[in-house]
Amino acid sequence: MPLLRLQNTSKSTTSNREAREGTIARPNIRAESGNNLPAPFWSSLSRKTVRQQIKDKYKLLSETARRRGFFWGSFEIYGGLSGFLDLGPLGVGLKRQIEDRWREFFLRRHGFIEVSTPIITPHKVLEASGHVENFKDPMTECSNCHRRFRADQLVKEATGLETEGMSLEQLGSLLKERHVKCPECGGELGSPQYFMTMFKTSIGPYGEDPAYGRPEAAQGIFVNFRRIFETMREKFPIGIAQVGTVLRNEISPRQGPLRLREFTIMDFELFFDPEEPDCPYLDEVASDELSIVTEENRKEGTENAISVEVGEAVKKQLIKAPWAAYFMALSKRFLNQLGVEGQHQRFFEKLPTERAHYSAQTFDHEVRLDRWGWTEVAGFAYRTDYDLRKHMEATGEDLRVFKPYPTPRVRQVKSIRANHQNIRKLFQEETGRVADLISKDDPEKLLRAKKAGQPVKIGSYTVPPDCFDVVQEEVKETGTRFLPHVIEPSFGVERLLYTTLEYNLTMREDRIILRLPFNLAPIQASVFPLVNKDGLPKRATEVLEALIANGLRVDYDESGSIGRRYARADEAGVPLGITIDYDTLKDDTVTVRDRDSWNQMRTPIGTLSSTIHTIVKEGFKPSK
Ligand SMILES: [Zn+2]
Repeated sequence: MPLLRLQNTSKSTTSNREAREGTIARPNIRAESGNNLPAPFWSSLSRKTVRQQIKDKYKLLSETARRRGFFWGSFEIYGGLSGFLDLGPLGVGLKRQIEDRWREFFLRRHGFIEVSTPIITPHKVLEASGHVENFKDPMTECSNCHRRFRADQLVKEATGLETEGMSLEQLGSLLKERHVKCPECGGELGSPQYFMTMFKTSIGPYGEDPAYGRPEAAQGIFVNFRRIFETMREKFPIGIAQVGTVLRNEISPRQGPLRLREFTIMDFELFFDPEEPDCPYLDEVASDELSIVTEENRKEGTENAISVEVGEAVKKQLIKAPWAAYFMALSKRFLNQLGVEGQHQRFFEKLPTERAHYSAQTFDHEVRLDRWGWTEVAGFAYRTDYDLRKHMEATGEDLRVFKPYPTPRVRQVKSIRANHQNIRKLFQEETGRVADLISKDDPEKLLRAKKAGQPVKIGSYTVPPDCFDVVQEEVKETGTRFLPHVIEPSFGVERLLYTTLEYNLTMREDRIILRLPFNLAPIQASVFPLVNKDGLPKRATEVLEALIANGLRVDYDESGSIGRRYARADEAGVPLGITIDYDTLKDDTVTVRDRDSWNQMRTPIGTLSSTIHTIVKEGFKPSK
């Protein structure tokens, strides 16, 4: 079932229609809160229906998201298209905040840097990186309706077996043995074949240069590694990030906003010296607990997570790279800030057969979602030197990093000196060629010949020992060159956005409140003139402009009753409401309303910005 089809939700929801058409105009006075609050949008529905709605958070969230402008399926008016998602004004706002918090959390404090490279990537780059060969999924086609599906997913759904990494033959025989049929029409499924999941295109008018939409942002970093390293004055270890669109031509995406064909990735590559793998920040997180489903547990057939401190996980080599362990701990803290508590997070180690072709160890960071169960929101791959090595082999460019020795090292080497005078006597016009061959030969071999006084065969020539000497020399070396290893934390922004919404979606007295933290909220305060006349809108606009000038994200809403506006703001996750009323005109004070408690306080306009900062720091303290 394509979950992003508009008709799914539009026909199912009287509540949705009611919300748009305004059954919520009826005021519902609640003595205990002291506010004039509207009835919730489903007030005409029974309590049972309300409980069912919160039970299916995906449905409730999708409707709220569409109604308030967070997200909806793309190309709605053409019937929708699976695997594509539109973000509305609030969705764009929330996405930007998640990205910026991520930058603060992972990049700024470590001095990591960010680049931006093209989405269209030439064939030769993705061929060198192994994607052309490896970026494919097993596909099966229904012989009756000719719809195509991921063979491994159908087998997994039908058998419960872990199918990632199974061969086409294994999948094919499981489809047959277990009598798996087409999920759409019940028809017979054909033998699985590979389908390349990169979007293919060609550059220029003649189509002679094949290219792909990038399936990950990392290759743009690897191919630029040396240039970025040089512009950063060869600082090392170095973290290089990219936030941008990636494309994956999924065969049959059936998980709404979670499985997208076009989405935003936030990732960075941490380049380090494999001889010095320690992470200097590890101590800061050493006692953080991680919940890990290890490769070992999975091989024994369980998905039970073990709880282990980060320091221990590194000591016991559960996590091979200390940098990976550090970033996993940070990632857990980051998800915490988005509203996901620790018990709803875990790290899921991939089996060798499931890992991407470039990875020596991979953990998926998963969160528990109401409809979808454990869902990957980030991945931690130990890419070793795989990518740099491949690009170095393909281009001949030296992508190694120079590491100076603390003191220069002196090495004894044997080197060959050709004796041109003696060579000329024998070989005349071939002297140059023979001398060249001699100097490229093995010094040990020539030394043995010299000591024995015997001629030596070099190429097609027989060369007497007086044509060369082998001498001992001292060579001074100031350092060595190595290929860095890479740890890659990678986050899916749309999945984080959906997760953030789900974990902050709450109900209070049958109403939806989106409890987004102040620093994430796309709108931090809404300004409301109590009525739309008598100079209140003008005063409200002045307050709005002052708050914007103070760097807050503020909007203005004068449509409908004040209670209805509060309800709208609660659903949009706006932490504070600021109401301008007739008293404002007399004494220059406004009412500040707290979204989560619905409490109110009165404060002078002159100190409004600092009042807001105090609320953010210390919590909301209502006036007596
Ligand atoms: Zn079918």
